[in-house]
Amino acid sequence: MRNIEADRIKTLPTSIFSTMSKLAVEHEAVNLGQGFPDFDGPEWIIDEAFRAMKESKNQYAPSAGIMSLRMAIGNINKKYYDIGWDAETNITVTAGATEALYCAIQAIINPGDEVILFEPYYDAHKADVILAGGIPRFITLKKPAFDFNANELEELINPKTKAIILNTPHNPTGKVFTNAELESIAALAVKSDLIIISDEVYEFLTFDGHSHIPIATLPGMAGRTITISSTGKTFGMTGWKIGYACANAALTDAIRKVHQWTTFAVNTPAQHAMAKAFNDIENYLPDFRLKYQRKRDKLYEALLQTEFKPHLPQGSYFIMVDLPPDRYEDDIEAAKDLVINHGLATIPPSAFYTKSDEGGTMLRLCFAKRDRTLESGIEKLKRL
Ligand code: PMP
Ligand code: GLN
Repeated sequence: MRNIEADRIKTLPTSIFSTMSKLAVEHEAVNLGQGFPDFDGPEWIIDEAFRAMKESKNQYAPSAGIMSLRMAIGNINKKYYDIGWDAETNITVTAGATEALYCAIQAIINPGDEVILFEPYYDAHKADVILAGGIPRFITLKKPAFDFNANELEELINPKTKAIILNTPHNPTGKVFTNAELESIAALAVKSDLIIISDEVYEFLTFDGHSHIPIATLPGMAGRTITISSTGKTFGMTGWKIGYACANAALTDAIRKVHQWTTFAVNTPAQHAMAKAFNDIENYLPDFRLKYQRKRDKLYEALLQTEFKPHLPQGSYFIMVDLPPDRYEDDIEAAKDLVINHGLATIPPSAFYTKSDEGGTMLRLCFAKRDRTLESGIEKLKRL
């Protein structure tokens, strides 16, 4: 039979999240792998979605998203970051951050364009660049601090470079990029006329006084940055898949061109519920942040008592741990052993590295889980 696969998808792997969650189900393992809360999102938001359905808000939304949600997104950006994104021309609602990333990258990348990724990268970032025919280039965030060398970044830039993909707070390391780091990236973007795609889905999950700085707020950056976020993380409803992209009018036009031919519009009642959620975010955030901070502390403290030494995350809902020396060949062997023989699913982070083999020395654990789930996960690590 003829080869059915298009060339551009041949190198794309199955997502490690699907692989590990499937293994978790098969082996009835505790799942500290795939990043999603194993508890429900707020009931008042669910009630609002029901209400929208009962009020006949069940047909297609406008392609860019319902106006009340776009305005609510504009308002929170003004309130928390003093950025003036206009609902009409700068904000697009998408099927999760995943679709926003896909549309943004399809919108700006031509075959042969180079895109710089910080590794470990979120796996969709690399896949999206490949789907657009772009060439991903990598700079490693090296442990223990997961920092990078700005000179190395500069050396990667050449006339083919079109964009840099940033993710802060960072999945999987929990790094929150500092102002100085963002300034160094911004300076290079301005100097070489690059677009920044900034994945900020964990924008409200920062700990210990680390604050999230959207790179679009730096001088000269609002006009060359596509900022992407997701209500899936902010309101703990990953299954609703309501994300968004904010950018200047020209970039937004380009993103919307792709979005209209990808999904056209996304779930209407969930958009109504999320408009309400953003309008009440001030009351919601303190408890949300505290809850996650406690979960992070709980998992981190417990991991210190195991052979899997944790790197303290400054943000996101993930913790990277170093594998015990001499116990395992690499992260894949460790993740397989843990899920098959010890009933604990994790994520082997080598799936997020191309250049460095540092991923082979760690595992990623997710703490967006009920205390009970965290406790049984920890128990399994202690019993090893
Ligand atoms: N970017 C990052 C860094 C993520 O961690 C995730 C999901 N965990 C996404 C994008 C995808 O977001 P969504 O579920 O809204 O598509
Ligand atoms: N972003 C989630 C994670 O990092 C997974 C999302 C997905 O499964 N596509 O675990």
